[in-house]
Amino acid sequence: MERVIAVANQKGGVGKTTTAVQLAAFLAQRGHRTLLIDLDPQANATSSLGVDRARLAVSLYDALLEPDESEGAVLTDVRPGLDLFPSSGALAGAEVELVSAPEREYRLRTVVERLASRYGVVLIDCPPSLGLLTVNALAAARSVLVPIQCEYLPLEGLAQLVTTLDLVKRRLNPRLDVLGVVLTMFDARTRLAVQVVQEIRRAFGTRTFRTIIPRAVRLAEAPSHGQTIFEYDPTSRAAHAYAELGKELLERLALPVEETPLEASQSIR
Ligand code: ADP
Ligand code: MG
Repeated sequence: MERVIAVANQKGGVGKTTTAVQLAAFLAQRGHRTLLIDLDPQANATSSLGVDRARLAVSLYDALLEPDESEGAVLTDVRPGLDLFPSSGALAGAEVELVSAPEREYRLRTVVERLASRYGVVLIDCPPSLGLLTVNALAAARSVLVPIQCEYLPLEGLAQLVTTLDLVKRRLNPRLDVLGVVLTMFDARTRLAVQVVQEIRRAFGTRTFRTIIPRAVRLAEAPSHGQTIFEYDPTSRAAHAYAELGKELLERLALPVEETPLEASQSIR
């Protein structure tokens, strides 16, 4: 459970999925066995990796309703070292169906507890809301990574997120902490972007990751090809930025930047 990270921000379009997918790909490349959990009914993380959700027999939805049956739903090695717990549109129903279920806030935690020992890192891509699904992610995670887009001043929404984090910490998961804030979609030509960076650094201090993700068309294009940025355009500025962010993440997790070769860690399984 130590390295289970929820990528959360209730605002849509801030770079949650992009950040979760690229970081998961980076960690796997570096030899850290990684599980990416797609907790958004829109299934963008699932499709970003080229997985067709229409062809999935089971998804995270089934696992949340029947945690006992979760293992068969994980897609192993969607990339070397990277497993995916795929989402499907049905997950939208879970938000409603779980309301009256026992332990409704801990459904994902139960699923994660069963799987976590196989992985160095587990990343959870949250939906754009603070509803029951996101609460499940926050109850299952050890820490939260918050992407913030540099294109408008987000402080009001952030106050709401911080309130939710405090509430989850008090009521559901006392060990939850903020791993860091990631600035995304930075365009140095706009004064607003520069201002957002300053404001966020003032508010979050060293919890702000040093690496800033630039606005880059390549990042918006890659998912439609079912590719990560490291596959679609490995020499791009965007790939470089996500690799730098990944290294910072490994530092914060106290993991080596380069793990033993993948073959070795795979043969242990
Ligand atoms: P969220 O998961 O928070 O809703 P996404 O990661 O899906 O946000 O990003 C929203 C949109 O912006 C997507 O179309 C994505 O491809 C695009 N995008 C994300 N990050 C960048 C970036 N740094 N530069 C340009 N486009 C980006
Ligand atoms: Mg998303």
